[in-house]
Formats: sequence, C-alpha cells, structure tokens
Amino acid sequence: MRRYVIAGNWKMNFTPSQATAFINEIKPMVEGKDNCDIVFCAPYVTIAAAMEAAKGSNIKIGAENVHFEAKGAYTGEVSAEMLKEIGVEYVIIGHSERRQYFGETDETVNKRTKAALAAGMKVLLCLGEVKEQRLAGITKEIVSMQTKLDLAGISAEDMKNVIIAYEPVWAIGTGLTATPEQADETCGQIREALAEIYGAEVAEATIIQYGGSMNEKNAAELLAKTNVDGGLIGGASLVAEKFTAIVDAAQ
Ligand code: PEP
Repeated sequence: MRRYVIAGNWKMNFTPSQATAFINEIKPMVEGKDNCDIVFCAPYVTIAAAMEAAKGSNIKIGAENVHFEAKGAYTGEVSAEMLKEIGVEYVIIGHSERRQYFGETDETVNKRTKAALAAGMKVLLCLGEVKEQRLAGITKEIVSMQTKLDLAGISAEDMKNVIIAYEPVWAIGTGLTATPEQADETCGQIREALAEIYGAEVAEATIIQYGGSMNEKNAAELLAKTNVDGGLIGGASLVAEKFTAIVDAAQ
C-alpha cells in the first residue's frame, strides 16, 4: 500500500531562526500523526537549523534542489554529497519555478534526479502542464512525456526512492486548484506512463502527490482520491495551522 507523503515547499521563505521557530511551533501539533510522512523542503542555508529543531520528531527536512555534478566550477550550486553529509534525505527536483525562471529542462531534471538517487536521497520529482496545454486538451500527452523524459535511464529499483509531484503549473501559487477529479485523472495518467516504462507493479507502488494551492479546505477531498497519495504544498506550508490541517486530512 502507498503511504501518504505530505511535503511543504518553503521556496525562498524562512531564515534559519524563522524556520526554528516554525518547527518548534508545529512539532507538537503533528506529533503522533503517523499515517503520513511529513517533510519540509527548505532553502539551503535554513536546512541545518530546521533539522536541529526537528530532531526527535516525525518531521523530516529536505532541500529544494540539487546539482547534477559531483563538484567543480558551478557557482551557486550545491551537490548531492553536500546535502547527504548534513543528513538531507529528500530533495525537490524539477519544480515549475525552476523550470520557468531558471531554465531547467527535462534533461537537467533527469540529470539532477540521477545524482540525488545515486547519493541515496529520495526525490520529489515535479511535473505538470501549463494552462494552455490543459485548455488544448493535451495534459495527458504532456505529463506522460515529462514522466518518460525525467525518468529516462532510472531503474525500477531506484523508483522506490522517487515520489512524483503532479503540479499543474496554473494551480501553483494562484489559489486555483485542480478539482479532485482532475487531480485523480492526471495522477492516474502519470501512473499509466509509469506502467508503460516499468510495468504495473512499480506504477502501483509509486507515490504520486498533488500540488497546486492545496490547503486546509481542499486537502481532504483531494487526498480521498485513489491516485492522489499526498501533497506538495507551498503557501499553506508556511502556516502551522493550515499545514497541520492537511496532515490531519491524511490521517
Ligand atoms: C508548490 O510550490 O509546489 C506549490 C504547490 O505551491 P502552492 O501550494 O502555493 O500552490
């Protein structure tokens, strides 16, 4: 059975001291809520403080990206080995903001995913269609293509450490949410693409989250859908009560 993963993406929010205060606030609120994995992905400089605050709790801290090369002249980038050494277990790769503002492509997403997996990390691999693609009726083709390109050369064994976050780009940070039916249908289409690559067993075992303005009001309906195995949450992951309500919806 697939286990819910409720993950926050803090984006460029929370300094180390702010993250410490936030984790100290939310820790008792999510204590014992063990029907899901709880992860917050933090800016690089905030990771260590957040981890320290989360010690001994059911909260895990991840990163928001990782570079594909092991080391070298890549100013501003951080390697998988660096993250691994400070104990990072989860990393977001391919977020639409990275693709949109920082030139990431399916090729770089694929390379980063391979590097993270080789270092033994779990990847939250983001993909999803833009508004024009949904309106044109080609969502299935887009998510299927992204799934295949982003996972090219990644083994069935490694898929145990890949979580896919289906994030319709038009729903991220916009207050617009896919309907539960749209989320379920598209997560199901991603599962079909996984079945084409890896077969039914891997497809059925892979955790597929929904992301895109998930909040305390819509989480229960989205998470109730067969193909939705959790959430990747931006805005609502910055407010302890809202995020806890989403965790509650997964219980
Ligand atoms: C995200 O950053 O992945 C996201 C889904 O953001 P939001 O929840 O704010 O739409």
